[in-house]
Amino acid sequence: MKRKALPLVLAAILAFCAAASFAQKIDVYSRPLQTEPSRDYQALHYRIALDFDVAKTSFTGENTITLAPFREGLTSIGLDAETFSVTGVRLADGTPLAFKQAAGRLTVELPKPYPIGAKVSFTVAYRAAGLGASGDRKKGINFVEATPANPALIVARSFPDGARHWFPCYDHPNGKVTQEILATVPREYRVLSNGRLLAVTENPGRGTKTYHWSQDKPHATYLSALIAGPYVVTEAAPGPVPIAYWYYEKDAKDAPIAFKKTPDIIAFLGKTYGYDYPWDKYDQVIVPGGGGTETTSATMLTQTVIHDAKAEKDFSIDRWLVTHEAAHHWWGDLVTCRDWGHTWINESFGTSRISRPVQWAAARRDGGCRPRNQDLPLVPGQAPCDLSVRADRRTLYRDRGRAGAGPDRLLVLRKGQEGRPDRFQEDAGHHRLSGEDLRLRISLG
Ligand SMILES: [Zn+2]
Repeated sequence: MKRKALPLVLAAILAFCAAASFAQKIDVYSRPLQTEPSRDYQALHYRIALDFDVAKTSFTGENTITLAPFREGLTSIGLDAETFSVTGVRLADGTPLAFKQAAGRLTVELPKPYPIGAKVSFTVAYRAAGLGASGDRKKGINFVEATPANPALIVARSFPDGARHWFPCYDHPNGKVTQEILATVPREYRVLSNGRLLAVTENPGRGTKTYHWSQDKPHATYLSALIAGPYVVTEAAPGPVPIAYWYYEKDAKDAPIAFKKTPDIIAFLGKTYGYDYPWDKYDQVIVPGGGGTETTSATMLTQTVIHDAKAEKDFSIDRWLVTHEAAHHWWGDLVTCRDWGHTWINESFGTSRISRPVQWAAARRDGGCRPRNQDLPLVPGQAPCDLSVRADRRTLYRDRGRAGAGPDRLLVLRKGQEGRPDRFQEDAGHHRLSGEDLRLRISLG
């Protein structure tokens, strides 16, 4: 996730100065401690079917949830559920289950106690009506109005706790699931989501299509994507990773300029981290709003990344935003913080000098871009993550630069001693990681 975006360098500098002066007034210790929630089950799979009514800014949904108890005798399931109203819960054979929805939580009563090792599956039906049209980022589903800058769109905002606003789920970064998304939209729309597109089905008489996407590698709910609209899609030249760019028709001339270095950046990051790109494909899609969001294999980028050839001479988006969001597909999407107090793990790698394409792309032109704080020392036993355990998002972003030396130091240590890139992502891949875990690695390095 990157909050500030292109295109004006001056605006970015002013925003940084404003943020810096504001940050000094914040008492981070007055904030609640960020911790990994206690839980008594592991969510395994969500099958989410959504049917959108754009004119009424409404949708109906069903999520078939499969989970496994962490303790004996589980009889009740707690889920995060906001914005929508649950209309029913049932087992696969149609047996209705008792439920209660209150204060952002859905509690489902199971028909009998379930033991550790069992698999439990049920379907939650729900609806959200009259959400209203919006132009920017509301948690959950946004029905975006058409403007001169963009066509009408549907954009789901899941980061950091928005997933619970469009499907009931365990919505914390330490819960990783596989997922299917079936989205029924106006037939002129295309739908982008995580993983692989399994099918596109016409719905005769309704003027709609249903897109069926499958994410069969576990990821956290904050990375769930659903973007729909009249997009034009261009595929990059065939390579080890299928790569495509989603943009508006009016931007057809300029869109390739912003995205053209993506295949090289993906290849470079894989080589640098010593771990091949871990997902099925890499799509980038433009949406209204600022910055970028690393939704797994379907990165959302602000539509202001589109720029012409003249602007490209002065400022190239691939130097930092494309690189940063791509880096998240290893750091954040593959190796994920256990709780938001450790989000510096997600953010540091794309910000630190490890993202050498930032310099690599710019070096010949202007001597390279120098991320701030890149040279802060980190010695074994000194944990920058300690700074962020009480932080919220604003402070986390402030601290990520300070933490940025950590990943560099880690890789430098490992490379220096073993003559090859660090391999610890292979151990930690598709699992959760805390700052303490990483500090241990550094200390052992
Ligand atoms: Zn980020």
